[in-house]
Amino acid sequence: MDISNARAALKKYFGYDRFRPMQTEIIQALYDQKDALVLMPTGGGKSICYQIPAVTMPGVCVVVSPLISLMKDQVEGLRSNGIRASFLNSSLGAAEQREVEDEFFNGLVDLLYVSPEKLVSQSFQPLLKRTKINLFAIDEAHCISSWGHDFRPEYSKMKFLKREFKDVPVVALTATADKITRRDIVKQLELDEPEVFVASFDRPNLSLEVRPGQKRLEQIVQFIKQRPKQSGIIYCLSRRSTEELASKLTSRGIPAEHYHAGMPDAERAQVQEDFINDNAPIICATVAFGMGIDKSNVRWIIHYNLPKNIESYYQEIGRAGRDGVKADTLLFYSYGDILIYQDFLTKKESDQTEVKLAKLDRMRQYAESLVCRRRILLNYFSENLQENCGNCDICKNPPKSFDGTVIAQKALSAVYRLRQSVGMNLLIDVLRGSGKREIYDRGFQHIKTYGAGRDIPFSEWQNYMLQLLNMGYIEIAHDQKNQVKLTPASERVLFENEKVELVKIATVKERLETEKKRAKAKPKRQRVRDELFETLRQLRKRLAQERGIPPYRVFSDATLEEMAANKPVTDEQMSQISGVGDRKLHLFGDYFMDSIREFVKGKGISYKGSTYDETHDLIKEGFTIADIAQKRNLNETTIFSHLAVLYERGEEVDISTYVSPDEVSQVLNALKYLEEPFKLKSIHEYFDGQISYNKIRLALAHYNKAKQDMEAG
Ligand code: ADP
Ligand code: ZN
Repeated sequence: MDISNARAALKKYFGYDRFRPMQTEIIQALYDQKDALVLMPTGGGKSICYQIPAVTMPGVCVVVSPLISLMKDQVEGLRSNGIRASFLNSSLGAAEQREVEDEFFNGLVDLLYVSPEKLVSQSFQPLLKRTKINLFAIDEAHCISSWGHDFRPEYSKMKFLKREFKDVPVVALTATADKITRRDIVKQLELDEPEVFVASFDRPNLSLEVRPGQKRLEQIVQFIKQRPKQSGIIYCLSRRSTEELASKLTSRGIPAEHYHAGMPDAERAQVQEDFINDNAPIICATVAFGMGIDKSNVRWIIHYNLPKNIESYYQEIGRAGRDGVKADTLLFYSYGDILIYQDFLTKKESDQTEVKLAKLDRMRQYAESLVCRRRILLNYFSENLQENCGNCDICKNPPKSFDGTVIAQKALSAVYRLRQSVGMNLLIDVLRGSGKREIYDRGFQHIKTYGAGRDIPFSEWQNYMLQLLNMGYIEIAHDQKNQVKLTPASERVLFENEKVELVKIATVKERLETEKKRAKAKPKRQRVRDELFETLRQLRKRLAQERGIPPYRVFSDATLEEMAANKPVTDEQMSQISGVGDRKLHLFGDYFMDSIREFVKGKGISYKGSTYDETHDLIKEGFTIADIAQKRNLNETTIFSHLAVLYERGEEVDISTYVSPDEVSQVLNALKYLEEPFKLKSIHEYFDGQISYNKIRLALAHYNKAKQDMEAG
C-alpha cells in the first residue's frame, strides 16, 4: 500500500491536507505489516493513525476501546465523515449486536469498535476468525498495565491476538508516556519487535498561566467575561465546591452548570449533553468530567485547585483546544491545597505514598516556577524544549533574570563530585561549607566545591536548585532516595560552558504584586470575535440542532475560523478549507457558502482576491467562458461558478448564452420535487445527467436571485 493513498483518504474523508508529524510514519509501518506502539498526547491525532489504514486497506480494522461513551462518539464522528463504522459493547441489545456482527462478518464496515470484554469473550471468537481483519488497534493501551492508573483486567487477556492472528499488525496507542507502562504494553500484548513512536507532548496552542489563589471568584468572573461565548471547564477539588461555584457564577450573570460523580446518572448525562451541544458552555466539575468526551472546541480550562500531579494536570488542560485553535488555561495556586493533599496522603499510608508526595512536589514546583512553564512540563515528560515557549505567563511577563552560569557550575560540579549520591539539602550544605556531621563522616569536606557557595543563603540556594531542576539541568531520582542527578543538559554547562540564566529571588514577590495589579486592572479591550465567524457559529449550531448532533461534529472551530478568513463561495474553494472533506462538503457546504455570500454582500466586501471581478472584466470584454478559463488558467467549472456568483450579486451578466430559458424553467420545476438546500448533484441526478452541472449552477443562480429580489420586496 502506498502512502499517497493515505494522503488522498485524509483529504477525502477528513478534509485535511497533510499529516501531522509522525502520522505518516505510523501509517507506513502498519502498511508494512509491522506492530507499533504510539505515544501521543490527547488531541495529538492518534485516531487517524489507524483510521486511515482502516479505510485504505482491504478488510476490517478492529478497534479495542475501554470507554463506551467515547466509542459511540467516535463512531458517529466517523460516520459523519462518510466512513463506515460500528461498535459492539454491552450498551447494545441482542438484536442490535447481531446486526452489527453481521455487518462485520460481511465486511460492510471499515472499522469495528469493541469493548475489551467483547473482544475476549468466547462467543466473539468464531466471528473474529472468519472475518478478514486488516489491523487491531488497541486504544488507551495503558489500561493493560497494572502500573497504570486505570488498569483493566480484560486487557491482560489480549495476548491471544498476536498468537492467533500472526499476520495481522497490532497498533497500541496511549497518551500516557511513562517507561514502565510502555514496556508493559509491549510485553502484555506480545508485540513483535514493534516500532515505537513517541510524539512530542507539546501543545503549543494551549496558553499556560498560574495565579495566586486569592479572590478566585472575582478573577474567574473577569476571565470568563473576557471570553464571551466560549466553552470552558472549571475543575474543583470537591463535589460541594462545584455546586457552590456554579451557583455563584450564575448569580453573577454567568450561567454555569455543575457536574460530579454524586449526581444521578440522568442529570449527569444531561449536563454532559448540554455541554457538548454548546447549550451549557460553562461547567464546574470534578476531574471526572471530560474523560469520555471528545468535544474539540473547549476554549479554556481553569483549575480552581492545584491538581495532584503533573500527569493529571496535563491531561486535564489537554481537554482544551483539541481542534488546534488557541485555548487558554489558568491554574490557581495556594499553599493550602498542598497541605490538604499532604495531609490526605500521609494519613492514607500505602507503598505509593512516597511517590505520590514526590509527584505533588513537582506540581508545586511547576506552580512556583520562575522559568518558562512549558519547559517544565516537557522536561517532566523527558522532552527537552530548548527555547522558551512565548505562550505562558512567565514568558509573557518575565521575571528579571541574570547570568547565573557560575552558580549553576558550582552546583553541578558539586553534584558531579559527590557522585550524584546525595539529596538536595545535603548538596546545599556541602556548597555552603556546613560543618554537619554527615559531611565529615562521608568526607565531603575534601571535595573541591565544598563551601564554594557560602555567600548565598540556604533558602536562595533552594530556589536556584528548583530553577535548575525546572530547566532540566538536574534531575531528582525519586526512586533513589531523591538523589540529585546530572542530565545531558548539565554536561553542556560543565563541559561546554553553556550559559544559564537564573531569576533574582527578590523578584518573586514583585511578580506576584504586579500580577495582582494586572488582575485588578480593567479588562483589556475585548477581543472582537469576527462577525462572520459568529454568523457561521450560529449556523453551525442550528444545523447541529436540526440533526441532533454536537456542533463540533458539523465543523470544528478551526474550520469555521478558516472559512471566516477565506470566505469560500465555490465548492472548489470550500473543499480547500482544512476540515472540509467530501461528505461534509456535500452535507453542509451550501449552507455555509450561502451564509458567507450573504454576509459579504451585506458588508459590501469584494470577494477575496477579486477573482470574480477579474472574470467579470473579461466577460465585459466579450471573452467566452472557455477563453477566460484558458486565459486565467482555471477550469471552466470555476469560471461558471464565478458567473453564477456575479449573476446572483446582481451584476449585469448574461447567462442566457449558457443556459436557455427553457432549461432554467425545467430546473425550477424540478426544485419542487427536491429537498432544500438544493444540491447540484441531486438536481443532476433528477435529470439523469441530461442537464450539465454548469447549466444547473446557472439555473440555481437564477432561482437564488429571484428569491432574493422577492425577499427584498
Ligand atoms: P487523540 O485521539 O490523539 O486524542 P484525535 O485523533 O481525536 O486525537 O485528533 C485530535 C484532533 O486533531 C481531531 O479534531 C482531529 O480531527 C485533528 N487532526 C488529526 N490529524 C490531523 C491532521 N493531519 N490535520 C489536521 N487535523 C488533524
Ligand atoms: Zn513559556
